[in-house]
Amino acid sequence: MAILMDGKAAAKTIKAEVLERAQRLRERGIEPSLAVILVGDDPASAVYVRNKEKDCEECGIKGIVCRLPAETTQDELLVQIARLDANPAVHGILIQQPLPAGIDPFVATYAVDPCKDVDALHPQNAGLISLDRPHFLPCTPAGIMVLLDLYGIDPRGKHAVIIGRSHIVGKPMTQLLLSRDATVTVCHSRTPDLGAVTRTADILVSAVGRIGLVTGDMIKPGAAVIDVGINRKPDGKLAGDVVFAEAEPVASYITPVPGGVGPMTRAILMKNTITAAVEATV
Ligand code: NAD
Repeated sequence: MAILMDGKAAAKTIKAEVLERAQRLRERGIEPSLAVILVGDDPASAVYVRNKEKDCEECGIKGIVCRLPAETTQDELLVQIARLDANPAVHGILIQQPLPAGIDPFVATYAVDPCKDVDALHPQNAGLISLDRPHFLPCTPAGIMVLLDLYGIDPRGKHAVIIGRSHIVGKPMTQLLLSRDATVTVCHSRTPDLGAVTRTADILVSAVGRIGLVTGDMIKPGAAVIDVGINRKPDGKLAGDVVFAEAEPVASYITPVPGGVGPMTRAILMKNTITAAVEATV
């Protein structure tokens, strides 16, 4: 039976530290703040944004939600981003994705001041991550690294297999694991015989968004299994990419969904925001 990696508990600790730092800033008359831009009415995005507002409240950070209609043009969005960039009272800016068709997420991300880019997606920040000189750490991969450390899983010399090559999870996860001396293999939608690769993983990270993708027979006995996927089942409940009931008896460590990687992502966003606020004051 695998040990459950409790992201909820670990996130609570991080958020308590953020709250303390926020209180210290407030004592100096500075109100740390995060602006979240939400374009359109995607219901999942609305839930994520509400959660971010809650996290801000818990952490002593002022959450500002800029809601823009689905018809917003790219130029209109850029104007909004420029306003937030220029506002010294705003320390972090996050553009909730996906953006409606017609807005290039690269262009939008590029417009964010890199010093306020708490999602670490601006090309400057992405570049720094790949050069092992990160400014902000990418929220989900950084949260996973915290969990690995907390449970004494040292990536050094291990074979880490990542399923998914997105800019937000798969690629930066590769960089962080490489920087900790893992041997990293990245799989994606065009990888033939996924199981043949995943069965060699000491650390397996699945970031795809497909329910039931990783079955028990795809896991090396004793592996640490990190499930990033968030999928909604027909009954409305959340599930990851990994078939938990099959994976748990095979793995040594496993993250649950919900309560694993998700809360860590949210906590690291708060940590990045408070870092941005502190840096803006020095
Ligand atoms: P994405 O759609 O940008 O990328 C998915 C990746 O999966 C792609 O690189 C694709 O090549 C790969 N893929 C698709 N089908 C595959 C298959 N059959 N076999 C192997 N690889 C396949 O998604 P994303 O933004 O990286 O998110 C991935 C999942 O993680 C989603 O479920 C998302 O909701 C979730 N997510 C969770 C958190 C969290 O905090 N827990 C954070 C970000 C994303």
